[in-house]
Amino acid sequence: MAQAFRSNRVVLPEGTRPATLLVQDGLITRVLTTGALPPDVALTDFGDHAILPGLTDVHTHINQPGRTEWEGFETATRAAAAGGFTTVVDMPLNCLPETITVDALEQKRIAARGLTYIDWLPWGGLVGPGEDETANLEHLEPMVEAGVPGFKCFLLYPGCEGLSHLSLAQLRRAAPTLARLGKPLLVHAELEGPVMEASKALYAHHADWTKYATYLASRPDEAELAAIRALIDLVREFRFPLHIVHLATAQAVPMLAAARAEGLPITVETCTHYLAISAEQIPDGATQFKCAPPIRSKNNQDGLWQALRDGVIDLVSTDHSPCPPEMKPSGAFDKAWGGIASLSTAVPVTWTEAQRRGFTLEDLVRWFSIAPAKLAGLTKSHGQLAFARPANFVVFAPEKHWTVTADRLHYRHAISPYLGRTLTGEVVATYLHGEAVYSAGGFAMLANGRDLSV
Ligand SMILES: [Zn+2]
Repeated sequence: MAQAFRSNRVVLPEGTRPATLLVQDGLITRVLTTGALPPDVALTDFGDHAILPGLTDVHTHINQPGRTEWEGFETATRAAAAGGFTTVVDMPLNCLPETITVDALEQKRIAARGLTYIDWLPWGGLVGPGEDETANLEHLEPMVEAGVPGFKCFLLYPGCEGLSHLSLAQLRRAAPTLARLGKPLLVHAELEGPVMEASKALYAHHADWTKYATYLASRPDEAELAAIRALIDLVREFRFPLHIVHLATAQAVPMLAAARAEGLPITVETCTHYLAISAEQIPDGATQFKCAPPIRSKNNQDGLWQALRDGVIDLVSTDHSPCPPEMKPSGAFDKAWGGIASLSTAVPVTWTEAQRRGFTLEDLVRWFSIAPAKLAGLTKSHGQLAFARPANFVVFAPEKHWTVTADRLHYRHAISPYLGRTLTGEVVATYLHGEAVYSAGGFAMLANGRDLSV
């Protein structure tokens, strides 16, 4: 029997309005905004809860295979479902092997089999070895043929052995290949030089690493600015699609705006934690707030929101990057793992701040559904509630208040900078292919998720 899902606030491409989605065999067969329901449909009426298109997180570290004790497909996709996501795109590092060859990609696919609550797909990695070569350049095209939607690389040590970073010279040598393949290159845009220099000076002066200010000073805005400046030049020369992941400094916004006005193919992401936490709020020793680039000042945060408003920042991601508790001891910021786990909380945390600043559900959908789907090459199936699309959607209570507790996190290790925070906006249910994978705090249908890259 066909199903129907109704609410007074359905976020459709033409705006938010009362509507009913008719669903058969996991696909949307009609969107009704007027008129009566056909006979013989099973109707679920969500009343005043909003229905949003399924959300996509383009920046998730699942860590399986190889570091499943940090996180894994089952726990990450469960947390994602509880957070309103119907698709996550997995980063190619922190797992073993790193996703830098087709062989490694196949190992990841085998590891994921039967363990996903929602859909997923893998980014590939671009790595650099010694001085003159780009280590896996010849693997990029085979990985594209095998389904990866793009590649991630670093310009400084990524915090974990494996996905070795590239110098700008090595990246320059990879640029013609990237331009030919036409898939986005996702870059962690911090340059090594300014970070090394700042850190060296801090150690020389015996800085107190239990202070957040010390960690912040070790990763100055200039590290991001220098990287972004160089990347814009490379894109101007070679015209490959560039995506800046987790932009943390608002000082880069003017040059990114100018580069885009010039017509360069550049997209920009920031993360929930940069939008919802400021350096001034981080207590000393509180390493659950450590990530890279670091969370910067309140003033900087306002700049990031303005860039979202102006459309210079396209999307918001989680950068869900968990680790076991023993790797994140409180105390010294230089000893703790840099990463924040947030799949289950990112959307409500972002909405809490966004609605206060006058943004709408359409904005939330643009940042978490439409723009991420475009980056991951999923525009034909994701980002819109429309005819013939998968019935992937989120039921969201935008005015509901709730408090973050450990039992609401759902990922492997219940570490979060948001514990105890009261949020506005709650994910009521998440539907994948017309089936509830998350509803009223419970889960169903493990292994319902698919690898969208095959
Ligand atoms: Zn990351």
